[in-house]
Amino acid sequence: MCGIFGVFGHKEAAKLTYFGLYALQHRGQESAGMAVSDGREVREYRALGLVPDVFNEEILSRLPGHIAVGHVRYSTTGSTTVKNAQPFCVTHGGCTLALAHNGNLVNAYEIRRELESQGSIFQTTMDSEVIVHLLAKASRKGIVEAIREAMGIIRGAYSVILLLPDKLIAFRDPYGFRPLCLGMVNGGYVVASETCALDLIQAQYLRDIEPGEILVIDENGLSSYKGMESARRAHCIFEFIYFARPDSYIFGENVYAFRKHLGEGLARENPLEVDFVMPFPDSGNYAAIGYAQATGLPFEMGVIRNHYVGRTFIQPSAGMRDFSVRVKLNPVKEILRGKKVAVVDDSLVRGTTSRTRVKAIREAGAHEIYMLISCPPIRHPCFYGIDFPTPGELIAAKHSVEEIRRYLELDGLYYLSLEGLISAAGGEGDKFCLACFTGEYPVPVERGFRKDILEKGE
Ligand code: AMP
Repeated sequence: MCGIFGVFGHKEAAKLTYFGLYALQHRGQESAGMAVSDGREVREYRALGLVPDVFNEEILSRLPGHIAVGHVRYSTTGSTTVKNAQPFCVTHGGCTLALAHNGNLVNAYEIRRELESQGSIFQTTMDSEVIVHLLAKASRKGIVEAIREAMGIIRGAYSVILLLPDKLIAFRDPYGFRPLCLGMVNGGYVVASETCALDLIQAQYLRDIEPGEILVIDENGLSSYKGMESARRAHCIFEFIYFARPDSYIFGENVYAFRKHLGEGLARENPLEVDFVMPFPDSGNYAAIGYAQATGLPFEMGVIRNHYVGRTFIQPSAGMRDFSVRVKLNPVKEILRGKKVAVVDDSLVRGTTSRTRVKAIREAGAHEIYMLISCPPIRHPCFYGIDFPTPGELIAAKHSVEEIRRYLELDGLYYLSLEGLISAAGGEGDKFCLACFTGEYPVPVERGFRKDILEKGE
C-alpha cells in the first residue's frame, strides 16, 4: 500500500510532485520522498511523516528540475525507518536512478538470496530494492531491455515509476494489480497511482499505463514498449472496496460509483426494515448511500468523524478504554436514541475496531443494530500489497458469520456475497484478484513467503 507520482517536462516538477503526493496521502502515511532531475543531476529528499510535514518551500527549492518521482509509504509491520522510505536512489556505472514502487513482489526473498550469493549488497529490507539490482545488472543492454528482463524475473504486484537523469519510465506488472495512470499538464506528462492526483494539479487524464507495459517519457515524447504479456488481468478488488479515493478512476471506473453499486447489491440481497441507514465514515459512506437509495430508507450520519486525528497523540490515561477508536468516531445520541439502525461499512478485517464502534452506538442509545458489509468475508491474506494481518488475526478466517455477529454484539450481520461483488464489477470477476475472499491467488506465492522475512534484517 503506497502511492507513487512522477512528472516529466514541467519546470516546477518538485512542486507538482508535492501536490500529487498530497492527493495520494491516503495510500501511505509513514514516509514521503521525491527525487528530482534537472536533466543532469538527480537530487532527493525523503523523511518519515506526512507530506506537508516532510516538505516545505525551502526543501522544494533545493530540488530544481523538470523531471521528478515521488512516493508515500504505508507502514507495514516494523521497520518504520527512513532507510526504507522511497524513492530508492542508486548510482550505478555513473548513472543515477530513482525508483518508486507500489505493490508487493512475491518472490523478492528468493531473488535477493540469489543476488546476494552473487555478491550484491542490499541497503534496505524493501522488496523494491531487488528491482533496482536487476536493472543495474542488465543495464548494458539499455534501460528498456533491462526492465523487460527484470519483469521476466520478478513476480507479483508492481506499479513502478523510474527516474533517470533525462527520462521518466513507468511500468506495471502484467496482471495490473495496482493502478497507475498517465496525464498531461502544460505540455508535460504526469504518472500517478490514482486520478485524484491529476485532478489536484489540473492535469488531463490520458489513459492508464497498460498491464505489462513499459512507457518511456523523454525529450521525444512517449514511447510504449511491451514488457510482458499475461493471459489475464488481476486488478485488486480491494482498491475499489476500501483503499482508493472515491473521487478517483482506477481500472477504468470511478471508485465512488463502484462503491454505490456494492451498496445496491447489499440492498438486493439483504433489504432490512430499519429506521435509517448510516455508515461508519468514511469507509462505509458510499456503499451506505447506495444501500439507502436502493431501499428508499432514510440516510443519517449516526457517528461523526474527527478529521484531525494524526498518527501520534498523547497517550490517554489508563482508565480511558478504546480511546484510539473513540477519538476517531463519536456517536450522535440525538439521532441514535431508541432507533433500529442499519450500519454499513466496507469490510471487516480483525473485527476489533468494529466491535468498539458497535458498542459505542449501543451505549449512545441505538436499540437494534444491524451491520452490512460491502464485501464478502476476508478469509485469506494478501501477498500483493494490501496490509491484511495473518490468517490467525483475520476474524472471518476462523469464525462463522454467526460467531462474528455474536462477537460484535449485533442484532444481525450481513456480508455482500461473492456473486454480488462480481455483479458490481460488471460481471467481470476474472478481471480482478479476489484472493482475499476465495484463496485463489493469480500469481503463485513463493514457498515460505512472509512479508516479515524481508523485515528480519532490521
Ligand atoms: P476491524 O473492525 O478491526 O475489522 O476494522 C474494520 C475497519 O478497518 C473497516 O472500517 C475497514 O474500512 C478498515 N480496514 C480496511 N482495510 C484494512 C486493513 N488492511 N487493515 C486494517 N483495517 C482495515
